Amino acid sequence: MKNDEYYMHLAIEEAKKAEEIGEVPIGAIIVHHDEVIARAHNLRERDQRSIAHAELLAIDEACKKLGTWRLEQATLYVTLEPCAMCAGAIVLSRIKRVVFGASDPKGGCAGTLMNLLQEKRFNHQAEVVSGVLAEQCGRMLSDFFRRLRQRKKEEKNSFYSN
Ligand SMILES: [Zn+2]
Repeated sequence: MKNDEYYMHLAIEEAKKAEEIGEVPIGAIIVHHDEVIARAHNLRERDQRSIAHAELLAIDEACKKLGTWRLEQATLYVTLEPCAMCAGAIVLSRIKRVVFGASDPKGGCAGTLMNLLQEKRFNHQAEVVSGVLAEQCGRMLSDFFRRLRQRKKEEKNSFYSN
């Protein structure tokens, strides 16, 4: 059986695909009985869809693949802590386990701002493992935003010098 770090590396590979096309680098995969059944990355900018988060796209793909909306035996790996929307989808699709990398101080709903994945008043709670390859997952994001700020600064400078 492969471990959480192995699968998180696959989620990181997905995040890199997002980065290559200028998206915020966030990747997710879903594993079912030791088999990867879905891979996805953030496509919000490309699609101009606020819901095109890696987790939602992966959940959709997994449901299609298994022919059911119930993902009771599945583990979702994602490089960044799920937001409220994705945590909601995780609960509604009954995902068994969620493993995430970096925490999200601005939107994390798997323990940081709140914990929707383990909210007792819902009819489903997921197991949560946090901080797997957190540094690597977080660094991808901070590097991305640093480069973005740098590019904006350069554009501004060239605008004023023209
Ligand atoms: Zn999300």
